[in-house]
Amino acid sequence: AGAWDFRSAANTLEALPPPEGIEIALAGRSNVGKSSLINALTNRNALARTSHTPGRTQELIFFTGKTPLTLVDMPGYGYAAVSDKKVKAWTRLIHDYLRGRVNLARVFVLIDARHGLKTTDDAVLKTLDQAAVVYQIVLTKADEVKAAELERRVAETKEKISRRPAAFPELIVTSSREGTGMDVLRSTIAQILAE
Ligand code: GDP
Repeated sequence: AGAWDFRSAANTLEALPPPEGIEIALAGRSNVGKSSLINALTNRNALARTSHTPGRTQELIFFTGKTPLTLVDMPGYGYAAVSDKKVKAWTRLIHDYLRGRVNLARVFVLIDARHGLKTTDDAVLKTLDQAAVVYQIVLTKADEVKAAELERRVAETKEKISRRPAAFPELIVTSSREGTGMDVLRSTIAQILAE
């Protein structure tokens, strides 16, 4: 707790910090709750900027802790008001990062528990499959849906990823607001570090 710090930000491949330790990246559509999750996970209220202007962060942000772990906050995607040129620039950055990062152990792909997988998410999963980077779905904002709906969403999402080559079969259900799933997320990270 409190041990996390901003390390660097990169919006080009050349600007990436040298790979050190183990990296875990977090990806997701704008507004999925990624900043809130990073803040809840690291016990830092404002480590990742929570923002009501989606699509603003267009860099890879690197956070380091006391463990050999670096958390990487990837730019949110799926925000319509961003220019094509910008979309292309960070699609390429993300692509290059995912394909070339030797110490990237897993990507948590955040999905809103209310909405499930969307078309724009599928494009990202495809990129991850092609790059052969193991990714794991993290459902966010679980507090917003009733238990039965949540159960359906988990089953439906598991089914959708079941034939994807690089998808980790288990989902993690979270609510940053209520702290749900943070223990699972932390033990999953501990397991990845121990591998
Ligand atoms: P980001 O764009 O993915 O970084 O998303 P943010 O973390 O900025 O959150 C987007 C919005 O969702 C904000 O209004 C948050 O308050 C809200 N939010 C984030 N996490 C949760 C959660 O666990 N439950 C609920 N109900 N709302 C959340």
